[in-house]
Amino acid sequence: MEINIEIINYELREAIEERSNQKLINCYQCGKCSAGCPSVNLMDVPPHEIVRMLQLGLIDEVLKVNSPWYCTSCFTCISRCPRLIDIARIMEALRYYNLNETFQSFDPNVLSDEVKTRLPQQALVSLWRKGT
Ligand code: SF4
Ligand code: SF4
Repeated sequence: MEINIEIINYELREAIEERSNQKLINCYQCGKCSAGCPSVNLMDVPPHEIVRMLQLGLIDEVLKVNSPWYCTSCFTCISRCPRLIDIARIMEALRYYNLNETFQSFDPNVLSDEVKTRLPQQALVSLWRKGT
């Protein structure tokens, strides 16, 4: 793969390591995780390559692939990994950052008083809890 160094993002890589509580450097790319992953055929990039891309700091590229959304957190990968790397947690961290980057948060102050009185309170509370 040709690497564009402008997209290397070490800061976000550290954030993903911290959120998933995994040391990416411990992976030596044996591929046992991908060989046992039941969702690998649906993924753009297999789990061990996700880890490799993260090691290289290619976070923006990783955030574009569908693999984290097909991970079912079945833990087959960690049970096969000789370095006990929990890829399910890494996938979870990627989903978190993906949503955080794209999700439009809800600001209740943009609603007029009239709309706020007309809307069902349950809908407002629900949206508030999810979107703030
Ligand atoms: S099984 Fe573990 S060490 Fe091997 S490639 Fe997957 S994450 Fe890396
Ligand atoms: S936890 Fe996710 S990445 Fe790991 S084997 Fe299961 S589906 Fe694949």
